Amino acid sequence: MQETKIPVTIDPVRAAQKLSTYNGIIPGRQLKRLNGVCAGDCSEVKVSLESGVDIQGIVYLKGKAVTELTLDCQRCMTPFNTEVTVEFCFTPIGDETEIDELPQAYEPIETSEYGEIRLHDLIEDELIIAVPLIPVHNDGQCNQGSQDVSFGKIEEVEEERPNPFAVLEKLKNK
Ligand SMILES: [Zn+2]
Repeated sequence: MQETKIPVTIDPVRAAQKLSTYNGIIPGRQLKRLNGVCAGDCSEVKVSLESGVDIQGIVYLKGKAVTELTLDCQRCMTPFNTEVTVEFCFTPIGDETEIDELPQAYEPIETSEYGEIRLHDLIEDELIIAVPLIPVHNDGQCNQGSQDVSFGKIEEVEEERPNPFAVLEKLKNK
């Protein structure tokens, strides 16, 4: 099956009226901000989307994006690949929409003056949020082994504290 490209912008209301679904890709090199937080160029992002109107009459654009990112392990400082998956449910809002009334699952998105939302940007945002703040290899795959360097330091500091029992011993011996 040939994969289509996901549109850069979309009119969610019109898409919902047609019950449009999309299965396609966003080329990784187009996502400049995501590339900026990764150690290498990201691979293509696989996106599946479905649009519709729920029983409350709320227009939604629901989907999932999967990609593989190259990140620098903060433990051994070598790059590794990791798969990142995000799920989202956008709903377009106008000025008159009450955001408070939206069900929690919906993420309100402001539309442009043409009623469009910037789909690539929104999916890129979701992926950036999903990137770990301190990326590290999975246990057993790290070049530093599974020992955590910073945790070891904390233990050392604790050992330097005076032992309360030692103090008691001193008092007893006086
Ligand atoms: Zn590592």
